[in-house]
Formats: sequence, structure tokens, C-alpha cells
Amino acid sequence: MIPSVLPTYNRAPLQFVKGEGAWLIEADGRRFLDLGAGIAVNALGHAHPALVQALTDQAQALWHVSNLYEIPQQQALADKLVEHTFADTVFFTNSGTESCELAVKMARKYFFDKGQPEKVEIITFDGSFHGRSSAGIAAAGSEKMTKGFGPLLGGFVHLTFGDLDGVTNAISENTAAIMIEPVQGEGGIRPVPDAELKALRQICDEHGLLLILDEVQCGVGRTGKLFAHEWAGITPDIMMVAKGIGGGFPLGAVLATEEAASGMVAGTHGSTYGGNPLGCAVGCAVIDHVANPDFLAEVNRKSGLLRQKLEGLIADHPQVFEEVRGSGMMLGIKCKTTNIDVVNAGNDNQVITVPAADNVIRLLPPLTLTEDDIAEATNRLDAAAKQVENQLEIA
Ligand SMILES: *Cc1c(COP(=O)(O)O)cnc(C)c1O
Repeated sequence: MIPSVLPTYNRAPLQFVKGEGAWLIEADGRRFLDLGAGIAVNALGHAHPALVQALTDQAQALWHVSNLYEIPQQQALADKLVEHTFADTVFFTNSGTESCELAVKMARKYFFDKGQPEKVEIITFDGSFHGRSSAGIAAAGSEKMTKGFGPLLGGFVHLTFGDLDGVTNAISENTAAIMIEPVQGEGGIRPVPDAELKALRQICDEHGLLLILDEVQCGVGRTGKLFAHEWAGITPDIMMVAKGIGGGFPLGAVLATEEAASGMVAGTHGSTYGGNPLGCAVGCAVIDHVANPDFLAEVNRKSGLLRQKLEGLIADHPQVFEEVRGSGMMLGIKCKTTNIDVVNAGNDNQVITVPAADNVIRLLPPLTLTEDDIAEATNRLDAAAKQVENQLEIA
């Protein structure tokens, strides 16, 4: 009999009932160190007092009002994002995949309104992840996500990750945009080198294309800058955001330049919930913290410490671990043994990590991770690695 919850996930037999900072408390009372943060969502950790305050204050005043009316919390969050980024304008969604939908629509509408309706194609890269909606799976294009779901949304050209020559060769009179994650998340924490992001920006400028960055996972302070592309010193035309921006409240956004957004006039797009007062009140509190340069400096300092500890673990466990990669608090450990076994051994030792492609385990901890948490993370990952080594010896 089918379970009452549609069984699209393989779930670990853990039930968390409470969260405090970087810690999750299981129904049986055990405390787990959370290095997954709900897949880069709980940017300020669990039950951050400022977020609890923002949410409860707003909950007592007004939960929802439609986008047919002005929403001051939405205006405030848009103003903050415009102030701190390349963007001139923002549309709020409820998830990353909805941000992908709008990014695709915005790029196509831009060229349509410019009298170039043939420009519909978007170049994307293997290993990418842009969500599970029809545009998201077509954009990523992997067999794992698309098989059985055809006919797929057309107009995506899939290239090998890192293949810059391929990009130039793939551009035609039909090309509208390039879409890329500055650091691939699901793909196994694969950062795009700064020089390559710069080159993509230049290619877009030369060919009159739009650069769409998917910062759903790597954005909102995750890499130690408010947005990951800042490390490369470039700006996109359109950017997809979600995950961390709501700190746990379902919230996403599409940020764009005035030029790129010029086709999206009244009536061209909408969302019932997107940008509602509750989500935006929380989003404002998140951005107030994360956009603070002192906060980001601490993220960089502590992520440096964490990385140093992880390099030590790699050296101590050469049978289990191969290398550390990534940026800031978005780190991946490539495993030599099966990554799921390492994640499970982590669960046994009460430290939460997240598997990714390319046999990687991801560490996406709350950005508020403390030095004590880092020491604890090191001990628990060490214990998990020892457990995997013992299993190897027995086998
Ligand atoms: C998670 C993710 C998405 C999809 O976000 P949802 O909120 O699950 O729809 C899109 N792009 C990237 C890079 C992601 O990590």
C-alpha cells in the first residue's frame, strides 16, 4: 500500500522536534549537530531570536494579503536587496524552482519585446540543479530528473561543466541566456573558477546575451559574500535566490537589472503567496544580519577554521576521504567510500551532513556556527570516519 506521504524521498529514521542554533533535538532527546541546515536553508541556525521575533510579531499583525495590494514588508525586503546587490528590481517567489521559472520567462520576454522572438535558448551545464518544476528539470537536463516526464520544456542547450569553448560554439541566433550556479550544490560542491565566471560575463556582453546566476544554494552569505558572484567581481543580469533568504520560511526571489526585467510589465507574472508579509518580515531579519560586513567577516573567519579542521580529517582518514572543496560555509568532502555510508555513519554519531553527486558529502552549516560547534563537528566527523574504516576492515 502506498504510504500516506508520497514516497519520493528515502528518509533517515530520525524525527527532529526542536532546534537551537546549530543543534537539532531528536524525539528521543539526542542532540545532533546540524551541518546541513535543511540544505542551506537555516542560514541563521534554528530558532534564531531575531527571526522568531520577526515571525511572531508579523503573525500577530497580518499573515497574508494578496499582491493586488501594497505590502510594506515586501517593499522593505526588495529595497534591502536592491541596496546590497547589482539588482534594480525584485520579484518574490516561494521556492528556488519558482525563481527558475521566472528567470526563464524573464529572459525570453526580454528578447521578445526587443523584436527578437527567436532568441529563446538558454545554455546550461551538466551537474547543475535548478529545481523540480518543468523548467527546472529541463534546464538541468539530467536523465535522473527528466526521465518519464516528457515532453520536456524545450530551448535548453546542455554543455559540459567548465567547457568554455563549448559555450562559444553553442551560441547561435537563437541564444538568449547562459544559466549557471557559481558553486554547484547538488552537483557535488563544484565551484566555477572566478576566471570562468568573468569569461562567461564577457561572452554574454559580446553576444548580447543575459547572464542568469542560480544562487539559490550558494547565495545569502553561504560563501562568505552576500552573493557568491561577488568573489569574481562580476554581476549577472538575472539572479535566482531562495533557500537561505527565508532562514527556514519558504521564500525565494528573482533579482534583475532594470534592462533585463523590462519585459515583465503588469500582468506578465504573478504569485498568490510570493512576497507575503510573514515571509518578507522574516526575510528582512535574515538580510539585516547576513548583509552586515561584520557578520560576513565572521563567516569567513569561522569557515576558514572549519576548512582547516576538515583538511586535517582528510589527512587522518585517507581510506575514507579524498579532498575538501567549496567556498565559505559551502563545503564538500569527496569520499573514497560510498558517500551515503559516510552520511549514515554521521547520523550514527549525531552529526548531520547532506549527500551530493560525485560521491560528495556536503557541509552547509548555519552561518552562525560557533568555534565550539566546529570543534564538535571535527570530533563527530572523525568518529564517523573511524566507524566507516571499521566497516571496511570487517568487510
Ligand atoms: C535547491 C535548489 C533549487 C530549487 O529550490 P527549491 O526551493 O527546492 O525549489 C534550485 N537551484 C539550486 C542551485 C538549488 O540548490
